[in-house]
Amino acid sequence: MTKNDKTNKKDRERARKNQTARKSAAKPEKDKAIQVINFSDVLFEHPRADVHVARILISNASWVNTTDGAVVIDTLLTPSLGRTMLEQIRETSGPVKYIIYTHGHLDHVGGAPAFLEDSPRIIAHRYVTDRFEKYRILSEHRARIAAMQFNFTFQVEKGMSFVNPTKTYDESMTFSLGGKTFELYHARAETDDHTWIFVPEIKTAFVGDLIIAGFPNIGNPFKPTRFALPWARALEAVRDKEPEMLIAHGGHAVYEGAEVKELLDVTIEAIHSVHDQVVDAINKDMPVDEMIHIVKLPEHLKDHRYLRFLYSRPEFAVYNIYRWYHGYFDHNPAHLLPRPEREVNEEIFNLIGDKKRILKRSKDLLEQGKAQLALQVLDIVLKHNPTDVEALKLHLKILEILCEEDYCLMSRNTWVHFMERDKELLRQSEG
Ligand SMILES: [Zn+2]
Repeated sequence: MTKNDKTNKKDRERARKNQTARKSAAKPEKDKAIQVINFSDVLFEHPRADVHVARILISNASWVNTTDGAVVIDTLLTPSLGRTMLEQIRETSGPVKYIIYTHGHLDHVGGAPAFLEDSPRIIAHRYVTDRFEKYRILSEHRARIAAMQFNFTFQVEKGMSFVNPTKTYDESMTFSLGGKTFELYHARAETDDHTWIFVPEIKTAFVGDLIIAGFPNIGNPFKPTRFALPWARALEAVRDKEPEMLIAHGGHAVYEGAEVKELLDVTIEAIHSVHDQVVDAINKDMPVDEMIHIVKLPEHLKDHRYLRFLYSRPEFAVYNIYRWYHGYFDHNPAHLLPRPEREVNEEIFNLIGDKKRILKRSKDLLEQGKAQLALQVLDIVLKHNPTDVEALKLHLKILEILCEEDYCLMSRNTWVHFMERDKELLRQSEG
């Protein structure tokens, strides 16, 4: 067996394992979270000469061979995953001369410590270092939201640290290495520090998380605003380059030929459509909690294979775009300087004066198929007494129903997180 055959066999084994893991992620069991991080294997793809991709479930990294060494684009989540990637680069490409961060999210920069022995130059947009600082000052909060979003307790791996770029840029920059040109462009999109790269000699675009498998992550209930309109414009600039191949650094990695344009066309149209509907609704003074039920993808896009709601969903995008353009005040004077919600709730609870009536109404709504409304009505009891056993049992049941048909990672995992919390509170109350 040649070294290459061995590598291919290893790749095939990894691919098989990955496919099994992906299947279980795509069809989670009834009450299970969609796990994307607790997965340490790396799948390698070599989609065209000089282009390599390393994939884990949550993100992808890639590298380009030049005659003078490798240019690495993103580094995966952890130093050990980065190490696995580096071993493959050693076999295929020689020393690492440059690393480009597409953005500062941990699943793109966390592997960087593994590459330092080659002393690569590390290039990123200048806002990446601000992002690292933000992660440091908000570490407790970020651990909490990671537990909800990914149902995951993140264990900091030995040697894990943010490796700052050695060179930053603002609007764009270009460098050449070993016969290839790397054009870097800044984009405000999923983050304010995004870089996408075009290599004209191989007509390939590397777009970071501008493209993930499915509806783009324009909105995340846990995170600051994403940039909808600049995102669409960045993808238009990618399309203007007429790439023959597009490498995405989230979800499905490799797009080729005609599918590149189709992918860009539908994603751009979807973002513009959702954005314009929100702008229109803001101009009509529509409250955001009505907006999220009205804004929809156009009919011809709603079941498109490139726009499935696997990670994010239009409702999250609506909140996000609204927050970008609109202050917190919803033009109801009761909400300008409100009393705490629990205080108002106590007034309502006492006026109703009968917990049983609230529970019954919540159950009736659930039976009518109005699980979300049932959840909000039930909240009147739980805000009054967060450990009411009867209310907790109903709460758990409603969350299970909301979870059952929900395959969007961020909402499903949130339901599961709070189902687990209900179960724990019930154990404590009943034990
Ligand atoms: Zn990202």
